[in-house]
Amino acid sequence: MATPHTTSRTRPTKVKKHARTQKRKRDDVDAEKLQDAVSQIDLNSTHTSFSDLPLSAPTVEGLKSAHFSTLTDIQAKAIPRALQGSDILGAAKTGSGKTLAFVVPVLENLYRAQCVGPDAGLGAMIISPTRELAIQIFEVLRKVGGKGHLFAAGLVIGGKGLQEERDALSRMNIVVCTPGRILQHLSQTSTFNVDNLRMLVLDEADRIMDMGFKKDVDAIVEYLPPDRQTLLFSATQTKRVSDLSRLALKEPEYISVHEAASAATPKTLQQNYVVTPLPEKLDTLWSFIQSSKKSKILIFFSSGKQVRFVYQSFRHMQPGIPLLHLLGRQKQTARLEITQKFSNAKHSCLFATDVVARGLDFPAVDWVIQVDCPEDADTYIHRVGRTARYEKEGRAVLFLDPSEEEGMLSRLEQKRVPIERINVRDKKQMSIKNQMQSMCFKDPSLKYLGQKAFTSYVRSLHVQKDKEVFKIENYPLEEFASSLGLPGAPRIKYLKADPTEVKELKNRSRMETALSESESEASEGEEGEVSTKKNGVRTKYDRMFERQNQDILADHYSKMVRNNDDDELDLNKLDGEQIGDDALFDVKRRIPADQALSSDDEDVEQLSGAIIEPDQLGPRSINIPGTSAPLILDSKRREKLLKSKKKVLKLKDRGNKLVFDDDGNAHQLYELENEDDFRARGAADEQRERFLLSERERVEEADLADKALAKEKRREKREKRKERERAEEDGGKADEDGETGEDLMANFAADAEAGEDGDLEQERPKTKRPKKWFEQDVVEPEEEEREIGTFDEMEAAAARLLG
Ligand code: ADP
Ligand code: MG
Repeated sequence: MATPHTTSRTRPTKVKKHARTQKRKRDDVDAEKLQDAVSQIDLNSTHTSFSDLPLSAPTVEGLKSAHFSTLTDIQAKAIPRALQGSDILGAAKTGSGKTLAFVVPVLENLYRAQCVGPDAGLGAMIISPTRELAIQIFEVLRKVGGKGHLFAAGLVIGGKGLQEERDALSRMNIVVCTPGRILQHLSQTSTFNVDNLRMLVLDEADRIMDMGFKKDVDAIVEYLPPDRQTLLFSATQTKRVSDLSRLALKEPEYISVHEAASAATPKTLQQNYVVTPLPEKLDTLWSFIQSSKKSKILIFFSSGKQVRFVYQSFRHMQPGIPLLHLLGRQKQTARLEITQKFSNAKHSCLFATDVVARGLDFPAVDWVIQVDCPEDADTYIHRVGRTARYEKEGRAVLFLDPSEEEGMLSRLEQKRVPIERINVRDKKQMSIKNQMQSMCFKDPSLKYLGQKAFTSYVRSLHVQKDKEVFKIENYPLEEFASSLGLPGAPRIKYLKADPTEVKELKNRSRMETALSESESEASEGEEGEVSTKKNGVRTKYDRMFERQNQDILADHYSKMVRNNDDDELDLNKLDGEQIGDDALFDVKRRIPADQALSSDDEDVEQLSGAIIEPDQLGPRSINIPGTSAPLILDSKRREKLLKSKKKVLKLKDRGNKLVFDDDGNAHQLYELENEDDFRARGAADEQRERFLLSERERVEEADLADKALAKEKRREKREKRKERERAEEDGGKADEDGETGEDLMANFAADAEAGEDGDLEQERPKTKRPKKWFEQDVVEPEEEEREIGTFDEMEAAAARLLG
């Protein structure tokens, strides 16, 4: 422990402490004065700038240093009332400055109440639905409150150790938090005292009050003192009575500054939609990105799996613009890094889920593209609200399948969203289907992501509440699967489940994940597995089977782990319930999930079209494309056979011989002609006669040519022989003359030639070899004088005459 006589440290601290107490005393006086001024604010007069309001010196300083001077509409209406202690339901368009509308009253009200320092306890709790938004609110709080205020403020959003947060919480005056994490502290941290809490703020209040967070919020409120001030803000705020009673609001002021406005979205936002059938969405998206490389684009999908798949596949295709992706299941550090990267980027494209739909204030986003239709008009409003913030311009494009168009437009109209149709220019539309297919073919892990993306999309359609917009039977799912590069649509079996519970399940899964991530450091990359500690010890092998690509698992293992594959089911495990019929979906693949088929084996990829019969336990049969009979897999050896391309080729049927005509068209060797044409040419017998006759003529002509050729060859032979004989005679003489070796060689060559087709032939026994069917009798020269008798002989004689 530090002792008082260690001067070098204690003296400055003492001085500092003294200065602080002095300041507090001054602040007390200030606070009293301010309190008077606040109670005298005329709520009917219009305030245009922060200087019109009775604010403490540190807040004024903070606002000045952040360059905030004029009040926005919501700030002008909400801040004076909040300073006077009223409960508020604040509604104003996206990007209209709601954050300051509650941050300033929080700082001021705590300041005037002198709720400062570690002894004062927690004075204000600000709840945000997402971690990213909580961080952003905290930044604003720090910017405005960091110029002389002495509050201890902190973030409690998970991602850090519980103990670390616990220690910090006990000293905090203002906490910015997410519902799940703060509830965990309220219920588990004994030193966390909220008895002095004066203010509760819910940003994006409608979201926090909806089904996903219902239980948490109700539980949090149970811990809080009832005599507090409550502020609720959102762009889509309602005065739902049930919410008011749940939060025990006291005569709340409903401040809706844009209620009378013609549009629920910012004036500076241009909104359009394109009708693009589901299977063409990715083509349209790719074409759009290609034509907007010098922009900052935010792209929304309905599920994290879609985000991952499209991000991964587009990245492979080198789009020429930096790509980023953000989803709830990424690690906290990665999420932070990505939000910062996107904030700082000039040109970038962020693929995201609705985790960034609310509240986030990315600077200068040019485009918001909604590839998947939002679940309702409110979600639409928040998504497009990421651009055109605080008087800046922005554009938003919504992709709609033809079946969604009518329903979604009527929903948007009801919410006063002005939106116009535009068409994609045919010239600019590109098709990436082939590329997607070849990428999925080459990269099994991408194909696996694609299958996941498909099932999660179909699943999201199935659980949509608004059945007038989302009519699942109208979507061309088979074509959609092939547009993702998949060889077929993975089959999805719908189990009985109440779709209304799905949203809650989804949220809880996200929150539980967040908890387990920080609690046990057990998070495993992006997938963010839900910890199943409560269900007993998990071995290395359990993890392996949970994470493995299902396509390459042995089939009985697939069966064992299939139920662990879905998040919802993991949740059941967390709740300690049995995995059973309340599971939502069961995915059946048409692609073999077979131990013989390792997906990184190129040969076996050939079998992508193979269909394995569902009965997979006993001997199985498998249809290999190009074979007529199924292959029975009744032994390991047979299964091994599938690994060899050669052996699989052997199983395939023999090919057919084709002939090609002069134009290069292929024909069967024997093509059947049309029967009518055949009859038109006369009776069959007559035709046969005619055919025989014509063929005979053809053969005879060919014979003549052949014989002439044969005769020519014989003549040549004869001449060669004579030449040789002459040469032999000359050679004898030359020998006597003592000719050189060169000439000897020449003789030798001539002999050899003669041996080949001259003399030797003569010596060959005259046994006739059997004639082939196409050969005519060759008339030997010796037999020339024979009497001509047969038809053939007559022919030969004629040929001789002609020759
Ligand atoms: P909302 O919560 O309504 O969507 P934010 O509070 O996030 O909007 O504010 C949107 C943007 O407007 C922020 O970038 C913020 O800095 C800016 N802003 C808010 N109030 C003012 C103001 N009074 N003067 C200038 N800029 C402001
Ligand atoms: Mg906001």
